[in-house]
Amino acid sequence: MFFKSAKINEFRLWGLVFTLVGMGIMILGTAGIILWGQVGKIFAGIFMVFGMISLLISVAVYFWAGMMSTSATMLQCPECGRQTKMLGKTDRCMFCRTMLTLDPNQATEHPAENAQA
Ligand SMILES: [Zn+2]
Repeated sequence: MFFKSAKINEFRLWGLVFTLVGMGIMILGTAGIILWGQVGKIFAGIFMVFGMISLLISVAVYFWAGMMSTSATMLQCPECGRQTKMLGKTDRCMFCRTMLTLDPNQATEHPAENAQA
């Protein structure tokens, strides 16, 4: 993953990025009509298609994040004590970004089992 944050937060971030990019492309396409008139309409059409693709990707990313968060493990972060979700065996806390793991072999410390809610 690209950012040092919880995977669920990262998926939401990518969803937001694709939404903004899609809207930005569509706005640029519309601006093309104002700037270039008739020729701009062709550009606007192409930009609209790309914008729509980007928005569809963002919907897919949001949907995927939603699907993943239903299978996420709920637990209390041992570092900040807040309820967080993690995906897979290792993930970061959504609040303090501490690395969390369910794999005892990867754990650096072995706190009491009550870390797992
Ligand atoms: Zn935490």
